[in-house]
Amino acid sequence: MALISVKNLEKTYYDGVQTPALKDISFEIKQGEFTAIMGPSGSVKSTLLHILGFLDRQTKGQYFFDGKTIDDYSPKEIARLRNKKMGFIFQSFNLLARTTVLENVKLPLLYAGVKESLRNKMAQKAIEAVGLLPRLHHESSQLSGGEKQRVAIARALINKPNIIFADEPTGNLDSASGQIVMDIFERLNKEEGQTIILITHET
Ligand code: ADP
Ligand code: MG
Repeated sequence: MALISVKNLEKTYYDGVQTPALKDISFEIKQGEFTAIMGPSGSVKSTLLHILGFLDRQTKGQYFFDGKTIDDYSPKEIARLRNKKMGFIFQSFNLLARTTVLENVKLPLLYAGVKESLRNKMAQKAIEAVGLLPRLHHESSQLSGGEKQRVAIARALINKPNIIFADEPTGNLDSASGQIVMDIFERLNKEEGQTIILITHET
């Protein structure tokens, strides 16, 4: 069974005027795949990703994640699903500012109800995997853009999600830091079989 199955998906925004966004989209993504969604700014990439991440709803059509639709879950179950099965990475990093690398990465474990004694160990392992152990106790505001995005990746991976959604993760980075981030995604997919959907406006 496909991890993600999208059938005749449509999205129209209504805010005074109707803005058709997605029109009759169908595709499947299997566990272990690395999918890139490419297109210029305004080509509804984020709109699609918000629906896939249960952050928004389609207007028409069906979206199955792991065989179920958003309506099969209560709001509490959706929060849990997003915490445990999905990892999110955004262009703007979305780290807590006056908070250390370690605390940022530990946060999803707290929400997931993982014991305090385990949290440090798991977070350190995830931080090591993105090469940031030397920055463990730095506040996120003391990091370069590339380092911030690597912290965001460690945080997204901490609960071993079924899928990583990355929305233009290199959009705010210079090309060298962007390449390091892309290399991490490639390694995660090749070596760990991590399923990844990557949005990019680069061609
Ligand atoms: P991308 O991520 O490819 O740059 P978006 O999915 O963010 O594109 O947006 C695509 C288009 O959808 C926008 O140009 C806008 O017209 C419309 N759109 C996005 N979000 C909203 C919204 N909340 N309300 C109305 N229209 C929106
Ligand atoms: Mg976007």
